[in-house]
Amino acid sequence: MKALSKRTANFTDSVIRRMTRISQKYGAVNLSQGFPDFSPPRELLDRLAEASSLPHQYSITWGAQNFREALAEKQSRYMGFAIDPNLEIVVTCGSTEAMMCAMLTVCNPGDKVAVFSPFYENYGADAILSGAEPVYVPLRPPVFDFDPGELESAFRQGAKALILCNPSNPTGKVFKREELELIARLAIQYDAYVITDEVYEHIVYAPYVHTYIAALPGMRERTISCSSLSKTYSITGWRLGYIIASPEIIDTARKVHDFLTVGAAAPLQEAASVGLKFPQGYYDALLETYTAKRDLFLDGLRRIGLPFTEPQAAYYVLLDISEFGYESDLDFCEDLAEKVGVGAVPGSSFFREPVNHLIRLHFAKAETTLTEALNRLQGIRNVFAR
Ligand code: GLN
Repeated sequence: MKALSKRTANFTDSVIRRMTRISQKYGAVNLSQGFPDFSPPRELLDRLAEASSLPHQYSITWGAQNFREALAEKQSRYMGFAIDPNLEIVVTCGSTEAMMCAMLTVCNPGDKVAVFSPFYENYGADAILSGAEPVYVPLRPPVFDFDPGELESAFRQGAKALILCNPSNPTGKVFKREELELIARLAIQYDAYVITDEVYEHIVYAPYVHTYIAALPGMRERTISCSSLSKTYSITGWRLGYIIASPEIIDTARKVHDFLTVGAAAPLQEAASVGLKFPQGYYDALLETYTAKRDLFLDGLRRIGLPFTEPQAAYYVLLDISEFGYESDLDFCEDLAEKVGVGAVPGSSFFREPVNHLIRLHFAKAETTLTEALNRLQGIRNVFAR
């Protein structure tokens, strides 16, 4: 048989999703793949039930009209500029498709794309599938700031776009306004695009504030803002994401999206559009919920005495496992799932650099789940005694 495509030869399966399967295998509390174990808002579920008696056929390929109108209204409010629902939005199957679609819209095979490292693992596969060559710019632990000279060097090497995950997965970093202004200045100077992943835009802990880079002067026309409803409304399985960009970019992105997927699920768009109309109180309550989860989980980790990064946003913690002396963080995570009963993601799946001493845990879980995970982690030093 002939070999399968060269483009797929260079990547493995997703380690994040593999860790979910490993957690299931050992009955571990799964704090690896980041998704909630609690229900979406009642209003969405009620509308979903009603939607079962509505038409079950395709919506408009770039998104149902009422969904785009509600999304434009909401995002205009938060992003700080007017978004045209008819010209500036493509609704996608999750931000996963949004990012892939953005890459295919912008990149020719061989184009360079700047990516901050550590990075959410999909960007590596997005680059391979679109034929782009990543140029990595390190975010240095523990504060995960970047060297402006290294970013400029990526642009000088010809990076046509920068992938910007803000707030950042897995670091929990919120890019400061001054950092974004610097990125914007370089993007404009080198005539590059910025492709964002802003799925944690509403999970940003005080006193940190999320700034949309698209809202900075000169950035609107060169930013492809990708995000999703997954995290904001606890509906990761509905696969609803979107791209917001200029009409010129959207015109091309629509075609890419159409041939990739035709469209996101129509009944789910109908149900989720209810959430897009929620008042500010909903987002305040969401943040309050996550702040309480963060406090519960981090306090527990502090009591156990394991060093970790303090997230400014999102729901991930990078735990330092140096003391256990493992060569491979992948082996450590497998042992952690089997012997301690907690699922985590090895940090090496996010870093370009050879980093093996960090693992990622997430706390988007019910209090009882988090407490159970902490109880199990309490015994970690007995299990991994050196
Ligand atoms: N974004 C989540 C994570 O980083 C879920 C990833 C996924 O499997 N789509 O864990």
